[in-house]
Amino acid sequence: MKNQKYYTCQYCYQEFVPKRRRVQKYCSNTCRSKAYHERKTKGNLPVTPEETLPKSENTEQKDSMSLSGVGNAAAGSLLADGIKALVTKNDNKAATKGDINLLLEKLGGRYHLVKNMTPNSEGAHPYYDLLDGKIVYLRLQ
Ligand SMILES: [Zn+2]
Repeated sequence: MKNQKYYTCQYCYQEFVPKRRRVQKYCSNTCRSKAYHERKTKGNLPVTPEETLPKSENTEQKDSMSLSGVGNAAAGSLLADGIKALVTKNDNKAATKGDINLLLEKLGGRYHLVKNMTPNSEGAHPYYDLLDGKIVYLRLQ
């Protein structure tokens, strides 16, 4: 009977058999610490002091699980806060010009080419105007 479960190492992407019947993200301590250092170098995850301490064999599983949990939660709340901030700002008071510019910058500009509409008779292309919420024909290309 083949009920042995294989995991894929999150760092070197090799399959491995977990030593214990719990979530194990990396095939070895080496991969785990390399992955950690890579994340730390890129600086896209908050680093807690506990992460830098040497791990004993007993705490390894628990720590790697809580580590990924913290990362996901942080990313999730960051996203939610960002959206909330935008919505709140736009609902409660008139957005300032700076707010709008920031928003447009995030979204990649005010006008977005509409690809499933054809140019008008003058050869101008249809764009979706994010500020006015309507289609306008422009000669931006
Ligand atoms: Zn590995």
